[in-house]
Amino acid sequence: MDQQAVAHDLCAFIRTSPSQFQVVQSIRARLEPAGFVCVAEQDPWTVAPGSALIICRNASSVVAVRVGDEVTPESLRFQLVACHPDSPSFKLKAQPEIAGPGGYRRLDVEPYGGMIDYSWFDRPLSLAGRVLVRTACGIESRLYAPDRDLCVIPSMAVHLQRDVNQGFAPNRARDLMPLWSAGALGEGGFVAMVAADLGVEVEDVLSWDLYLANRVPACVWGAADEFVSGPKLDDLQCVHAALCAFGAARNERAVTVFACLDNEEVGSGTKQGALSTLLSDALERLATQLGATREQYLRALARSFLVSADNAQAVHPAHDELYDAHNRCVLNGGPVIKEAASQKYTTDAVSRAVFAEICARADVPCQTYANRSDLRGGSTLGNLSNMQVSVHAVDIGLPQLAMHSAWETAGALDSAWGLAALRAFYEADLRIYGAERVELG
Ligand code: ZN
Repeated sequence: MDQQAVAHDLCAFIRTSPSQFQVVQSIRARLEPAGFVCVAEQDPWTVAPGSALIICRNASSVVAVRVGDEVTPESLRFQLVACHPDSPSFKLKAQPEIAGPGGYRRLDVEPYGGMIDYSWFDRPLSLAGRVLVRTACGIESRLYAPDRDLCVIPSMAVHLQRDVNQGFAPNRARDLMPLWSAGALGEGGFVAMVAADLGVEVEDVLSWDLYLANRVPACVWGAADEFVSGPKLDDLQCVHAALCAFGAARNERAVTVFACLDNEEVGSGTKQGALSTLLSDALERLATQLGATREQYLRALARSFLVSADNAQAVHPAHDELYDAHNRCVLNGGPVIKEAASQKYTTDAVSRAVFAEICARADVPCQTYANRSDLRGGSTLGNLSNMQVSVHAVDIGLPQLAMHSAWETAGALDSAWGLAALRAFYEADLRIYGAERVELG
């Protein structure tokens, strides 16, 4: 794929991935035709050199692994990329309808993560996630993402808030409930709609994890096609680049791992998040299945390397004063190595050198990012995952604007740069000797 084709493929990936549950489905849809087999955590696994497995937890996190043909218990090591499938949105409550005034019906939602509230106003929205339904045998989960727009969060007319352009502070419990009906639908209409969409009886709709979703298709744009915009670029741009790299890479001497861990936007502290046992459970079971002892598994971790891939903040065209003068990144400048003295990013001198060297060898430009020294900046899943599975690690991202807006913007070339860098990482013959020496093959 050329660079533009990768950006267009990202747009297609975003279109099929409106919530973390559909992201997992999109990942499986790309890996399974390539020979990956989905195994359940409750079942026994058979793993051998050459195995290609997908492990899901909660249907919203994925750990996919490919075992190189030459991997032995003695030589075992993991080359991992971690990213996240969730993005800030609004989550539907269990009693979802708000009636009135008049015949209006709105949906009762609460914030999931730290979004830019104003970006959610006055745009067509839909819902996406999963619905639990009653079946003859018990309960079953169904993916739900109707292919139509369902609601809007309407602004107030400027005539009724003359100061709106001097400061905008919507109340999340009052102003951010999307309008869903003007009066045609009555009480219970929401569950009736979901039941009809899923082809089940109204009383068989039991529960849901549903989020507001922006269905406007992501697109490549600009006079020179330099930009890509769409919902959920954080972190689907990294998910897509890492997934493409993982699918294409071959490394017979390592276990390559693609981990997409849910709930980063709300702190990762769930059974399927970066703070959970998902990654360590998967890696340890894998090692055991490959015949490694506990000692060999721990030695494998000491030889392993994690790239935590989560988008980075590119310099804003109107506010370059908010960025460090030198450690800043721009669109289409390639992957960004993020570093913070607070250790909110996992990057240290060893991991920065390793990743920068991999990029250099692959002819991929690479940038550095640090917060302006008097600003706090963001956090990500790398250091949290690293508390559970402690390995050498670097935090990277692709540069973007408008992070956590309902419509984000990035550079159209950076997906291809990210793919090339991560493929080179997966394929590198990485030999790690503590913190003293790393051979790159
Ligand atoms: Zn992110």
